[in-house]
Amino acid sequence: MAMIIIGAQPAFAMQTQERAIIKAVAAGLPLARQTLKQVVNINSGTMNFDGVHQVGDVFAAELSALGFQTGWVEGGDFGRAGHLVAMRGTKGPKILLIGHLDTVFAKTDAFQTFEPLPRDRVKGPGITDMKGGDVIIIAAMRALHDAGVLDQAQIKIVMTGDEESSGRPLNRSKAALIDAAKWADIALGFEDGDGDIKTAVIARRGSVRWTLKVTGRAAHSSQIFTDDVGYGAILETARILNAFREGLADMQNLTFNPGRIVGGTKANMDRATYSGTAFGKSNVVSQTALVSGGIRAASGEQLAAAKARMQTIASNNLAHTSAALSFAEGYPPMAPTKANKELLSLYSAISKDLGYGEVLAVNPRKAGAADISFTAGYVDAALDGLGLMGTGGHTKEETADMTTLKRNIEKTALLIYRLSEGE
Ligand SMILES: [Zn+2]
Repeated sequence: MAMIIIGAQPAFAMQTQERAIIKAVAAGLPLARQTLKQVVNINSGTMNFDGVHQVGDVFAAELSALGFQTGWVEGGDFGRAGHLVAMRGTKGPKILLIGHLDTVFAKTDAFQTFEPLPRDRVKGPGITDMKGGDVIIIAAMRALHDAGVLDQAQIKIVMTGDEESSGRPLNRSKAALIDAAKWADIALGFEDGDGDIKTAVIARRGSVRWTLKVTGRAAHSSQIFTDDVGYGAILETARILNAFREGLADMQNLTFNPGRIVGGTKANMDRATYSGTAFGKSNVVSQTALVSGGIRAASGEQLAAAKARMQTIASNNLAHTSAALSFAEGYPPMAPTKANKELLSLYSAISKDLGYGEVLAVNPRKAGAADISFTAGYVDAALDGLGLMGTGGHTKEETADMTTLKRNIEKTALLIYRLSEGE
């Protein structure tokens, strides 16, 4: 009998219990669909604080009814609406469920409503990114509650109000999430991943912004390349950017991107509006150039190595030029750990047991940075991309495949149940 590893209850009881959970998911599905419609029709662009609050209120009411203690973390000191935090349970594994209330669609955007389409698809702002994922979290909680097994896990839910445009400084805007991660054993994220129900996310690249400021010696253009004048700021900037491209090419899954550049005799950048201005005449050697960019890395070690190479390149200047390269705070990477792979295996086994087939890991190149990245360093295992699937995220074509709603509620409910049985 040494092979039995699934807890104290006999297998037939487990199956009965799991069947009860699946039944409860089906019973709760009409409410889940109704809630989804309700929240998609509330605009919650990140800077529409009232809307973000309202979506949070809808979810808080449903969670309170399931016995969760709910609270709102005010966002005043990081310039955002704040976050919904909910807690329940005193025994069993500590599981953190991550959602976000905001969308990329501002109050003034033309895209505002829930619009049913043929073949059980629905178009709507934030429907897959990620109000659908939030609804999956709550529907899974309801199913476990109604099946009488929610008490055997300790659950903390954090739904942030600023995932799409994080409040700064990050150490304040992400504090609620990081505190919850320090408490938790396991973090589950309900983003839509790559939109494919056959995949989930075990790794996300970190994302950091960088700024390059290059200075040259102003002079008449006829003297460029001489010992006295040198090469000017713009040519030095071109050298640096091309050397970044060549110097980072061998780093697997790392990308860097210069996104904005201005240069001339005078140049200014405005970070708030992502714009810049420059003044320069074609007969004057350029004095200033500014570049703003980003870098995405697969691990903390890779990011550190890339930063070091970039600094070496930026300090090896052409004559009469100098450069200052700086990196801002950013999103840490979520590395593809063994424990994350094991958690995915458990989730995949559940999917197979339900007749939905295997779930594989997303290529990290297809997974952007997300809130779960901030938790990955503190929990034993993390898994993301468990939300409502679809296409067209961040565009006016954002469309959910509603057939994935029930399946992913079932998978989440059973995942939490099996984790709580394994204790
Ligand atoms: Zn999202």
